[in-house]
Amino acid sequence: MYDFEFARAQSVTDAVARLKATEGAKPLAGGMTLLPTIKLRLAKPSALVDLGRLPDLKGIDVAGATVTIKAMTRHADVLRSPDIAKTIPALVTLAGGIGDVQVRHRGTIGGSVANNDPAADYPAACLGLGATIVTSKREIPADAFFVALFTTALEPDEIITAIRFPIPERAAYVKFKNPASRYAIVGAFVSKGPQGVRVAITGAGDNGVFRVSPMEAALTKDFAPKAIEGIRLDPGNMMSDIHASSEYRAHLVGVITRRAVAACL
Ligand SMILES: Cc1cc2nc3c(=O)[nH]c(=O)nc-3n(C[C@H](O)[C@H](O)[C@H](O)COP(=O)(O)OP(=O)(O)OC[C@H]3O[C@@H](n4cnc5c(N)ncnc54)[C@H](O)[C@@H]3O)c2cc1C
Repeated sequence: MYDFEFARAQSVTDAVARLKATEGAKPLAGGMTLLPTIKLRLAKPSALVDLGRLPDLKGIDVAGATVTIKAMTRHADVLRSPDIAKTIPALVTLAGGIGDVQVRHRGTIGGSVANNDPAADYPAACLGLGATIVTSKREIPADAFFVALFTTALEPDEIITAIRFPIPERAAYVKFKNPASRYAIVGAFVSKGPQGVRVAITGAGDNGVFRVSPMEAALTKDFAPKAIEGIRLDPGNMMSDIHASSEYRAHLVGVITRRAVAACL
């Protein structure tokens, strides 16, 4: 571990000011990814700005057709939320499948979305539901937020404050998980709602989370698993690693997405 400064932010404005003032400073949320990365000397932030004590960044709110989850809400809070169970139960399934009980009690939705790990679950939910990422500066549609592996539209002094999810008519998340970490080898988030049919895949793409427009078009005509039976993805655009080859991932996208559609029904 390299030396770094540590500051506990007193407000979102204070956190942003601290990030602006110190080059190489990073926000600290649950620390589930950031701290091991620092310990392994894979990251060298000059300062950590702890968001952990900001009440403005915690909580779940349902208003009209929208569910808002504030950035420092932990996975365990989503898992236990009766409001989310009532409005978007697919998010409860998703949160319950993240890591283990320790990770679910420390990790936050804002940290997960900001980190944009190519196998993380929440990026698929954001893209699959057409969410809006609310930051200290602006509102970013999920379609424009996830740029590449571990890369988002966030600027260095920009903090996610909340994620807004439109409530869908139907939605489901199905994950074929790595049995050790529980990260997705392939995860499919499918929804039908105010923005039409959306299919978002995590764990598979060589550029991170992505939508599958041929499947969306087929499901718009006929929202049934058989409607996407013939659609094959190009393994050339899939990740390949010790856990699964690109051909296997391409095959799994079809299988897991059909299961997600069936779960929606
Ligand atoms: C053993 C293990 C298993 C896991 N399994 C899964 C899994 O199955 N599925 C899954 O999806 N995830 C999994 N995770 C990841 C975990 O769920 C966390 O979501 C993830 O580690 C990041 O969240 P965090 O709150 O810990 O963020 P941190 O580690 O504190 O931060 C991560 C990054 O996001 C930035 N950041 C944090 N908050 C904000 C914010 N509000 N605005 C801007 N930038 C911010 C930080 O600067 C840092 O770069 C696993 C992690 C571990 C350690």
